[in-house]
Amino acid sequence: MPRIPADEILIAGQWRRGRGTPIHTVDPADGSVLTTVHAASAEDVDEAAHAAAAAAAAPEWRDLAPHDRARVLYRIGDAIEEHADELSALQTADTGKTLGETRALALSAAGTFRYTAAALETGEDALTPSRGPYLTMSTHEPIGVVAAINPWNSPIASDAQKAAPALAGGNAVLLKPAEWTPLVSLAFGRLVHRALADAGLPTALLAVLPGRGRVVGDAIARHPLVGRIGFTGGTDTGRAIARVAADKLVPASLELGGKSPTIVREDADLEQALAGVMYGIFSSSGQSCIAGSRLFVHASLHDAFLTELVRRVRGLRVGPGTSPETQVAPLVHHAHRDGVAAAVERARAEGGRVLCGGAAPQGERYAKGAYYLPTVIDSLPNSARACQEEIFGPVLVAQPYADEDDLVARANDSVYGLACGIWTRDARAAWRLGRRIEAGTVWINTYKQFSVSTPFGGVKDSGLGIEKGRDLIRAYQRQKSLYWGTDTTPLPWAN
Ligand code: NAD
Repeated sequence: MPRIPADEILIAGQWRRGRGTPIHTVDPADGSVLTTVHAASAEDVDEAAHAAAAAAAAPEWRDLAPHDRARVLYRIGDAIEEHADELSALQTADTGKTLGETRALALSAAGTFRYTAAALETGEDALTPSRGPYLTMSTHEPIGVVAAINPWNSPIASDAQKAAPALAGGNAVLLKPAEWTPLVSLAFGRLVHRALADAGLPTALLAVLPGRGRVVGDAIARHPLVGRIGFTGGTDTGRAIARVAADKLVPASLELGGKSPTIVREDADLEQALAGVMYGIFSSSGQSCIAGSRLFVHASLHDAFLTELVRRVRGLRVGPGTSPETQVAPLVHHAHRDGVAAAVERARAEGGRVLCGGAAPQGERYAKGAYYLPTVIDSLPNSARACQEEIFGPVLVAQPYADEDDLVARANDSVYGLACGIWTRDARAAWRLGRRIEAGTVWINTYKQFSVSTPFGGVKDSGLGIEKGRDLIRAYQRQKSLYWGTDTTPLPWAN
């Protein structure tokens, strides 16, 4: 069992109990209460926002040279890597995910800080072409206080994806972890807090404010000092945040839900495709925005492919995230598992044929955990709810296709547009399909691979705006133009 941090949260640069409603965090592998976190209240948010604004404006932060700010980010990256095992154990306890996955997420967070530090060192402002007796410059400045509101599925990676570029941009950050998974974000907060203190910088540059979304998240988003909102989560919440941002006229980036198609063409390498389809949907127990949850297989191999897929899926090892053998870990919370089970029952009622799974696993080992068996469903039309709604669990719906235009029409017949997987040996077909599918990311003969240097975002109801990529810091800055007169000629009205 990892060391659970004390129940204090990070408000205005200090660790103390929040004044909000306490949260009991639960280990989804056995339902035991891990700890109680004293969540933030609206007053705590207000205090944190004022302290953050003061910290962002403090000369020692505001005037810090990019090179020195980068050094702080490198230190945070190193600290995350040094504590990767502890962070991984904590995240596995809180989210249920396998230790292999949570360790990879911690290391990816460390990598995000290092990449951002390197990008910060190379950032340049521009001298733009002049049209008169003046120099014209385009510069980038901090926004001030920014919000980072995150979901429960990959907390530390999402935290780093927002906090690193926001700090690099010279801002202070109010971080809001999801109610079910505050622990790893608090541990992350401790590492950042220490790095800031060691560098002699204001510790109020990062606040970690757990609590209910509609209370704490809403208070953060609406706070008048918050000048930008970075949000990852469900599409409905994203719309609510967008309305708040519209009222305040502040920018918001929205990384939202998905229902991503995976396409297996008749010329695919079937071994690769089988492994890729399974990994795409069943890793993270399907609790991934980019999960490949809709499978389209060419009619010529549909039945044989599904038979073999189902045989392999039945063999996936379901167990606690702490066991090295586990491939499919429990879902994040019992309530979420029940929601996934209800979605499968709806699919059955709509005429779906459950080829495997479709229930919680039986036996003493699973009795208290939030487990659900990896599930494959077919015989549903594309209009069925199971083919249209994000289930966010280990549930795959399969449909055959014969004609490419029909395939593209059905793959795009979704409110979402986050990701797509294509399995084929035909390079031209891969290119053609990759261009026609409405998605922010397309994987060809691979799936769920990420690089911080590659921009990530969704289209349609999957989001607005981009995270990662070389311009990641610019998203957390304001652009300013300066005109600097260079001669003494009076302007026209001077006579
Ligand atoms: P959610 O929308 O319920 O919550 C996300 C965060 O928003 C939480 O911290 C929550 O407390 C907060 N929140 C809720 N209501 C709020 C409000 N009114 N104002 C401000 N904050 C509020 O999402 P979730 O259930 O935690 O996460 C699952 C969802 O996240 C899925 O839809 C998944 O696809 C999506 N997701 C998207 C990406 C991506 O990059 N596109 C990545 C991971 C997860």
